[in-house]
Amino acid sequence: IFRGYIEGNPRETDMEFKVGEKMKMEAPKGSGAMLVKNLYLSCDPYMRGRMRNFHGSYIPPFAPGSVIEGFGVSKVLDSDNPKFKPGDIISGFTGWEEYSLIHKADQLRKVVADDIPLSYHIGLLGMPGFTAYVGFYEICKPKKGDYVFVSAASGAVGQLVGQLAKLHGCYVVGSAGTNQKVDLLKNKLGFDEAFNYKEEADFDTALKRNFTNGIDIYFDNVGGSMLDAVLLNMRDHGRIAVCGMVSQQNLSQPQGIHNLFNLVIKRITMQGFLQSDYLHLFPQFLENVVRFYKQGKIVYLEHVNEGLESGPVALAGLFSGKNVGKQVICVARE
Ligand code: NDP
Repeated sequence: IFRGYIEGNPRETDMEFKVGEKMKMEAPKGSGAMLVKNLYLSCDPYMRGRMRNFHGSYIPPFAPGSVIEGFGVSKVLDSDNPKFKPGDIISGFTGWEEYSLIHKADQLRKVVADDIPLSYHIGLLGMPGFTAYVGFYEICKPKKGDYVFVSAASGAVGQLVGQLAKLHGCYVVGSAGTNQKVDLLKNKLGFDEAFNYKEEADFDTALKRNFTNGIDIYFDNVGGSMLDAVLLNMRDHGRIAVCGMVSQQNLSQPQGIHNLFNLVIKRITMQGFLQSDYLHLFPQFLENVVRFYKQGKIVYLEHVNEGLESGPVALAGLFSGKNVGKQVICVARE
């Protein structure tokens, strides 16, 4: 349950775990709803935006006292919706609870159960993976040989961006917040180079060390002073995909950007995007990424917390980098 609007970093105590009323284990006739058992729930940085009382965003705030909503993988137990039947595995918006009644089925999709882990349908093959795919191909417009920089590179989105860039023939460097993550970037995810931004006295120097000829593509997950330093190191006609600004999300005053004039002198294209504007590409994304995965060309790191009770800690942990890979909550395995 979401307790109420917050300032600063989300904390475990901003959410509360409650045992609810015993519910009828059926989808009421005539409701069009589905009763589902939630298996995996997703923790995503955008959920922090829903914890503030701000109605001008692309998604409304959570209502204080209500069950937290998020992406999940669930099993249909009973259905009054002709498109889904008991036993189906679905992925889409659900509640942070063991069982949910889902009324809005328009954005749900059936998951084909095969040898791909079910939890990947909220990660590699879900919203974060899709974000990486459209952000990289549609916004970054990559060319073979491009020099690519990815921040929050070991996370749900970043790890796929880096691997897609490698498959495209680019040179890829990632930044992350621990030496363990840096090691994974270089030795498991195939990045050419990586650095721990928390150990760098100055980001400009770190970027100059890693990109002696500058950056063609910056996939920005963090914003703030990293973005400012990247602007100094972009090459002419570079592209910046503004995916997210996790370093700014909990601040009441965003940190200043001083180097924007580089957009002009280097003719850089900098574009924000929302994955939800590109849903027509979802089938193409699934086909390509499933193929890459099955061919062993990409891997995916997950950070799985066990039990619904672990949800608040897991969500709060995104903002201090506790997650190594995509943060998932396992409520039940089947
Ligand atoms: P991650 O799995 O990458 O988790 C968040 C990570 O951000 C943490 O693990 C941490 O890694 C890093 N981080 C946390 N605080 C800071 C900070 N102050 N400065 C720098 N890094 C920080 O999350 P996702 O991959 O799911 O999301 C990545 C970005 O993509 C977010 O900004 C998110 O909002 C955005 N996004 C945008 C979408 C769109 O449609 N535009 C859709 C989905 C996501 P570390 O240890 O490396 O610091």
